[in-house]
Amino acid sequence: MTPADYVGRFAPSPTGQLHFGSLLAAMASYCDARKAQGLWHVRIDDIDPPRSIPNAPKHFSHTLKSYGFIWDGPLQLQSSHTKLYLSKLEQLNQQLQLFICGCSRADLTGHKLYPGHCTKKHNDKSAVAHRLASSDRETAVRVIVNKSVSFTDLIQGQQHCRPSIDFGDTIVLRKDDLFSYALACAVDDANGVSRVVRGADLLSSTAVQLAIMKLLGLNPPEYAHIPVVLNRDKQKLSKQTLAQAIDDMPVVPTLLHAWRLLGQQAIDAANIDAFWRTAIENWELDRVPKLSQLDETL
Ligand code: GLU
Ligand code: ZN
Repeated sequence: MTPADYVGRFAPSPTGQLHFGSLLAAMASYCDARKAQGLWHVRIDDIDPPRSIPNAPKHFSHTLKSYGFIWDGPLQLQSSHTKLYLSKLEQLNQQLQLFICGCSRADLTGHKLYPGHCTKKHNDKSAVAHRLASSDRETAVRVIVNKSVSFTDLIQGQQHCRPSIDFGDTIVLRKDDLFSYALACAVDDANGVSRVVRGADLLSSTAVQLAIMKLLGLNPPEYAHIPVVLNRDKQKLSKQTLAQAIDDMPVVPTLLHAWRLLGQQAIDAANIDAFWRTAIENWELDRVPKLSQLDETL
């Protein structure tokens, strides 16, 4: 890949403030892109307004700037891409890849994967087109994903995922008329991103996203999944486990802690600028631990 071809991104969901796990993903994708002299974008995955904090773009840009991140172009917002997502659903419907799912929560209880109740019943192009055009609040739209997906993750190695075991027919348009994360992320990442560096909790979503890109005839990026950070109680750091916001942490020591957890060679930095200069120069993707999880206290 030549430097000009490298486009990376950090894509947080605005369901809470950025925490230490977010910092690790941001740092790994940033260093990887900048070391390759590539572009690095920040995209806010704000397609789920009921779960979003107010003013997320303002908060996230403030936090990322305070940690010394510099991104290319304006902040991208998934909420401004909804026309594109709808056009991709219309394409999938033309290809007879969509069906309407009226399953209730109770219908799906006890099933890890979609059990296929509606697959055959409602695979009707004009009914799906009608559903795409008008909300009914009672049915979702799913995409038929029935082929295995293999890919080589640049950190975690060879992955092979089968629809009957690892994922099923996935929701692309929710009952409340919001586009699903799988669809939005697949469409955006295939739209110019060359390498996705993110947490290993998303490895299983990658297979579904690759399947969607393939159905749409889009070029997939490369993937590198970094270990997910666990807190002292062995839970993934997340908004749900009330992970502390990085706004409340001392910047340089927190950057150095994240750097260490990413398995990088020891560096020292007196200030934020010095940290990034040294970090970008010394970044080696090969040193990132090939683990899906990591202890925060390491
Ligand atoms: N926005 C999603 C999240 O924060 C996806 C992140 C990604 O694909 O990098 O979980
Ligand atoms: Zn169903």
